Amino acid sequence: MKMKRILAAAVAAVMALGLAACSSSKSSGSSGSSEAEGEVPTVGVLIYKYDDTYISTVRNAIETALDGKAEIIMQDGKGDQATQNDQLDVMIEKGVDVLCVNMVDAKAAQGVVDKAKEAGIPTIFFNREPDTDVIKSYEKAIFIGTNAADAGKMQGDIIKDLFDTHPEYDLNGDGAIQYVMFQGEPDNPEAIARTQYSVEQAEADGCTMERIGEIQVCNWDTEQAQRAMEALLAANEGKIELVIANNDGMAIGCIAALSNIGYNVEGGDKFIPVIGVDATDAAKEAIAKGTMSATVLQDGEAMGNAIASVALNAAAGEDFLAGTDYTLDDTGVAVRIPYAPYTA
Ligand code: CA
Repeated sequence: MKMKRILAAAVAAVMALGLAACSSSKSSGSSGSSEAEGEVPTVGVLIYKYDDTYISTVRNAIETALDGKAEIIMQDGKGDQATQNDQLDVMIEKGVDVLCVNMVDAKAAQGVVDKAKEAGIPTIFFNREPDTDVIKSYEKAIFIGTNAADAGKMQGDIIKDLFDTHPEYDLNGDGAIQYVMFQGEPDNPEAIARTQYSVEQAEADGCTMERIGEIQVCNWDTEQAQRAMEALLAANEGKIELVIANNDGMAIGCIAALSNIGYNVEGGDKFIPVIGVDATDAAKEAIAKGTMSATVLQDGEAMGNAIASVALNAAAGEDFLAGTDYTLDDTGVAVRIPYAPYTA
């Protein structure tokens, strides 16, 4: 019995070695041997969850940009950091030439950096931002994202324009904007920045902002936001003058709650402005129908293209930004893809 188990372990070890040998013969970067004609690098992509509209745009852009230039191994973390850690181990074992990592939990990034560093694999974090110190702890790590404050500031500017253009949105005519806030996650730096800067920018633009209720943390999720908005409306119908959401997914949930009681219906006469971030297809459709006011465009395609260019450089042993127009921000380890406002 014991013998059998040892034998099984030995067979498994041989199989693992066999796999490693196979993948390193396909991809040259980590082995250091010269690359044969026509061979392409292997790019490992870890996604926090496939079921995220914005990230889907980024994924598609990465696949399109790397088509014919690299072999892609992509995995769905399904919103679970432990799952993503396992996927990382498998990719490292397979000997990918470069890792592109969309963390489930950005606070777990040090573990990813440590493993990548030990294996000598260049690592591009994107979308969900690890602490700068974590990125700096590995000379072959970089972050590609947005400037978290920008999306919020653009929402703030949009709020000012909306209420200037539509004084009737001030339902009680008190000159202040009574708003409700929908936040992505409690500890996500991007979410916190959007929540903070949207209101601060609107105030800097001259608006008086008054929040109704607590900040509604709805995990970027449409259905959670719909339920929270239903509860807010039950207690405050007629008092809410604006809905600010950290993303379009939650904004769409709020619109569903509003439409259930006759607000924000296409062609209807009762309307509360709702603004989001991402410019998802659903949001653009709602804006076109007039059931949503505005969003902020997070350019997933530009993000995907940047990740692909930087990954190819890293796989070829070049500097991350060699031959590109991208520049590092003042942290020295991050590239920022700009946002743009999107209104009807
Ligand atoms: Ca008011």
